[in-house]
Amino acid sequence: MRLLEERIRTSGRVKEGGILKVDSFLNHQMDITLFEQMADEFWRLYGSDGVTKILTIEASGIGIAVLVGQKFKCPVIFAKKTKTKNIDGAVYTSKVESFTHGQVYDIIVSKDFLHASDRVLIIDDFLANGAALSGLAELVSAAGATLVGAGIAIEKAFQPGGEQLRARGIRIESLARIKSMGPDGAIEFC
Ligand code: 5GP
Repeated sequence: MRLLEERIRTSGRVKEGGILKVDSFLNHQMDITLFEQMADEFWRLYGSDGVTKILTIEASGIGIAVLVGQKFKCPVIFAKKTKTKNIDGAVYTSKVESFTHGQVYDIIVSKDFLHASDRVLIIDDFLANGAALSGLAELVSAAGATLVGAGIAIEKAFQPGGEQLRARGIRIESLARIKSMGPDGAIEFC
């Protein structure tokens, strides 16, 4: 998506360790007009796939997912990150290793909100090593629901997540795919 690529070029900041900071329009301050255009693009890609639920992960996926849910006219669920295991069986749970914080945490979704009859579109801000997306896909599978695919704002294609998850048969549509990020801040798209 040309508009998002341009925004990354003008407002993104490359940090140490392969981290792209996009706080001015996505991860802290949110550009809702841009989010609406991103939601339009996800609708173009997935609008005819019978999506019944949007699933994301707290916190930074929520903003985009809300606009996508409005477009698809279906509920938006965000998986919660938790350090305490729920033992009463009322939740689906999986593990995610955080790329930005380096720790492992459990993510949960209540069984009340995800059902075998659901057709789920996962939305997230970034795809890097694929841990977040893989954990979300596990929740969908635990519910016996159908994973329609994933809609990602920014895929760092130089990290292995996208390739590995596509190889597992998951449809992934990323609006901006970054091929490389130089130490001088230069960003090259696929
Ligand atoms: P993964 O699980 O695919 O390794 O990483 C995805 C998650 O890590 C995203 O939900 C996002 O919050 C965070 N993330 C990964 N790479 C970056 C990055 O370069 N910049 C920012 N701001 N977040 C990232």
